Amino acid sequence: MSSSVEQIKERLSIADVVGSYLKLEKAGSNLKAKCPFHNERTPSFFVSPSRGTYYCFGCQAHGDIFTFVEQFEGLDFAGALKTLAARAGIELIRENPKVRNERDRLYRALEKAAEFFEQSLSKNSAAKSYLVKRGVKDGTVKSWQIGFAPNEWRALHDHLLKEGFSTDEMIAAGLVKRGEKGFFDLFRGRIMFPIFDSSGRVIAFSGRIMPEFEDGKSGKYVNSPETELFRKSRTLYGLNKAKTDIRKRDYSIIVEGQMDLIMSHQAGFTNTVAVSGTALTGSEITKTVSPSFSAKAEGVTETKTVLVTTEALGLLKHFSNNLIFAFDADEAGLRAVQRAAMIALDLGFDFKVAAIKGGKDAADLILENPAKWAAIIKDAKHVIDFSLETLMDKKLEPRALGRAIVSSVLPYVAKLASAIDRDHFIKTIAEATGIQEEALREELKKIRKNESVPAPENVSVTKAIHARDGLRRRTAALLYWLTDNQKLPIDAIVLKKRIKEILGPSGFENLLSAFVENKNELLYEAEAFYDQAKNFHKAVAELLINLELEIVDEKLDAAMAYGKKSNNIHDIKAINDLSLKKQELTTRRQSLDKERIF
Ligand code: ZN
Repeated sequence: MSSSVEQIKERLSIADVVGSYLKLEKAGSNLKAKCPFHNERTPSFFVSPSRGTYYCFGCQAHGDIFTFVEQFEGLDFAGALKTLAARAGIELIRENPKVRNERDRLYRALEKAAEFFEQSLSKNSAAKSYLVKRGVKDGTVKSWQIGFAPNEWRALHDHLLKEGFSTDEMIAAGLVKRGEKGFFDLFRGRIMFPIFDSSGRVIAFSGRIMPEFEDGKSGKYVNSPETELFRKSRTLYGLNKAKTDIRKRDYSIIVEGQMDLIMSHQAGFTNTVAVSGTALTGSEITKTVSPSFSAKAEGVTETKTVLVTTEALGLLKHFSNNLIFAFDADEAGLRAVQRAAMIALDLGFDFKVAAIKGGKDAADLILENPAKWAAIIKDAKHVIDFSLETLMDKKLEPRALGRAIVSSVLPYVAKLASAIDRDHFIKTIAEATGIQEEALREELKKIRKNESVPAPENVSVTKAIHARDGLRRRTAALLYWLTDNQKLPIDAIVLKKRIKEILGPSGFENLLSAFVENKNELLYEAEAFYDQAKNFHKAVAELLINLELEIVDEKLDAAMAYGKKSNNIHDIKAINDLSLKKQELTTRRQSLDKERIF
């Protein structure tokens, strides 16, 4: 394993890897970008090509190409390894199955299950013709590894047992359940859609019941339970295939279900992902689907949850800031939009909605006419414009309209980080409703105050260093940087000697050991600070004088505290000496421009 890591690091530069996800600009000896891991307007995310690491001054995210891919794509280490190995053209050697750990065995069981379902599909003509009827093409079936779970109680269980997996492992992988009468397959008589993580490993399944087995009792869709590998709140179906095109086209489309997702890809919208569709806890949207929607389950009201979480959208935001949320334009759909909008706007997305009207879902609509889907996506409107139009259609009397604007449109405006955007939408609302801009701004102020929207981060990097850290930290940063960087216009030996004089030999050693764990971030701090300093010598001289002053001050405090008690003549002399030293340093600091220590 470790040798593959080394090989990959040799072949891939951090600038290329990070640069394929983010737009990097030069910043001294480093590169910088807007941080993908927190919402910011000025770049505080730095990449060091020479060290092969990155560091963010805003959120302290740091690491190498592996942690970057893990964080960016929401993968674990093995997933990042798989992604980067493919990119570097390195084949990962499969370890001996016996020594593979538990997690790996779960991945393997799911992979084997997917193969089993694929084979079962090829043998089942009813399932195949169902997919044909729904308009799913052969190529799509292959590329999404769509399969079929036989309508038997233990078909998969028995197959996996032969493949060497234990029943406990199948349960842990979410494939088999323990019932009163023993074990049984979770998925039976269903069209099977594997759910992949962003590196393309199967982590779960979603199964749609075959119409012939629909009895009104079993859900139309059944998803794998949460397992060690599958967390619904952070899973976006199809991200493994969509991520490249989301980045290329610079927007993503979110649909509700697996079938919608696959049909949208088939229609050429390869930047589509889907959110999970079953009831869950956490930040989610409960959407009640009317009986007419849920196929033949007459009289049964199926409760469907459109799960839009901060985690999942945050993952998507790494690839593009622009998001189109496609939804069924019914009351429940509108509620889903509201909730998703609040999360998306909070994350800084440009959030548009595409309404699917006429009681159809995306999959049916695309089957009927792919051009209609393209038109719906093209007509997507910013959530504020959309909500405003929906309200205006209701033709409310003026005061009711005003209240509705305050409760269901202005909260979105309040979430916008850009003052220019807010201004734009205030004008739009004023124009459409006839409400005075002044009044709208007043109401907006109230909402923003109540919500205490976090101020955008615009603290400059240099300022952040000053504010957060003491002089000792900056001195340590300078020392690490000197050791790391041979091309400096400064005599490192002289400088080290000077710092040792100021701190004393033990103080010098203490300083280095105190910050040894922060070495990586200190290097970035030094670079950010000194690369940008107009006069490097002056900046260093200033640091040293301030450091010396700090130490004299500390000594003076100690001497005063002691001297008061003792009244000893030597102590009084020490206080006088230190006071003189302090005066001298203060004067020198004032005339720093003329000073040149090195
Ligand atoms: Zn950050």
